[in-house]
Amino acid sequence: MVKGFIDTHAHPPTEEYLVTAGGQYITAAAKHFGGSIRPRTFDEMIIEYDAANVEKVVLVAWDAETTTQLPKVSNDFIAKAVDQYPGRLIGFACVDPHKGKAAVKELERAFKDLKLQGAKFHPIAQAFYPNDKQYYPLFEKCLEYDVPVSVHTGTTGWGSGLPGGGQMKLKYANPMYLDEVAADFPELRLIASHPSWPWQNEQLAVAMHKSNVYVEISGWSPKYFEPILVTYMTKLISDRVVFGTDYPFLTPKRWLKDFETLDIRPEVKQKILRNNAVKLLKL
Ligand SMILES: [Zn+2]
Repeated sequence: MVKGFIDTHAHPPTEEYLVTAGGQYITAAAKHFGGSIRPRTFDEMIIEYDAANVEKVVLVAWDAETTTQLPKVSNDFIAKAVDQYPGRLIGFACVDPHKGKAAVKELERAFKDLKLQGAKFHPIAQAFYPNDKQYYPLFEKCLEYDVPVSVHTGTTGWGSGLPGGGQMKLKYANPMYLDEVAADFPELRLIASHPSWPWQNEQLAVAMHKSNVYVEISGWSPKYFEPILVTYMTKLISDRVVFGTDYPFLTPKRWLKDFETLDIRPEVKQKILRNNAVKLLKL
């Protein structure tokens, strides 16, 4: 059997994320992606992934309690889902950087006790600059456990279209801030998550210059990738680009179908859809 693809960016499709943690911000995000999103169960999610030949899925926690005043999707919730589907889900922890030392401690617990295998941050929803030194202990903890860190870059659906974008500020998600983190933590595997529009060139420049930076291409249909992204992902940094959907905003079926419209050599497709993630996640 040919080994399946690896999706490096998915959210729980359940009410815990889409309704409880997401509130008005997710309603806005769903509109940004063209409609409303029906919550579904993890069983339904796995059926969708089976049908799309996706073998493993990175499932991310969520904690933006300080900025949104909405409940988090806890690391325990993610760990429990991972346990329910052995070999299928890879849990990534999330902590709210504004929680200071407690956040670092929680990250340690997530790696050590819950066995989550990476971390995820969203600088816009969490309102922080990744290169702000006061948050460096978070990256130090990830390095200590040798797990990759996914950081949202570029614009977001979160709060999109609301007055004032629901008070969310896009400035935090410029990938140039990751350049500094990558330089200060050369051993840390960093994932610049999503095509970083409107900073696509910046993201590619950082990934080209820093070999510890991966580009993850979720959250956009491949049909709308900028030509320069396609050039870099197929030629210059084809060893460090990884597939992701941003499920449930985009489904694996839709994303993979649109990916087929790009003119990419089969061996490069195999790297993007699976092999690069194996290396990144140390599977
Ligand atoms: Zn996402």
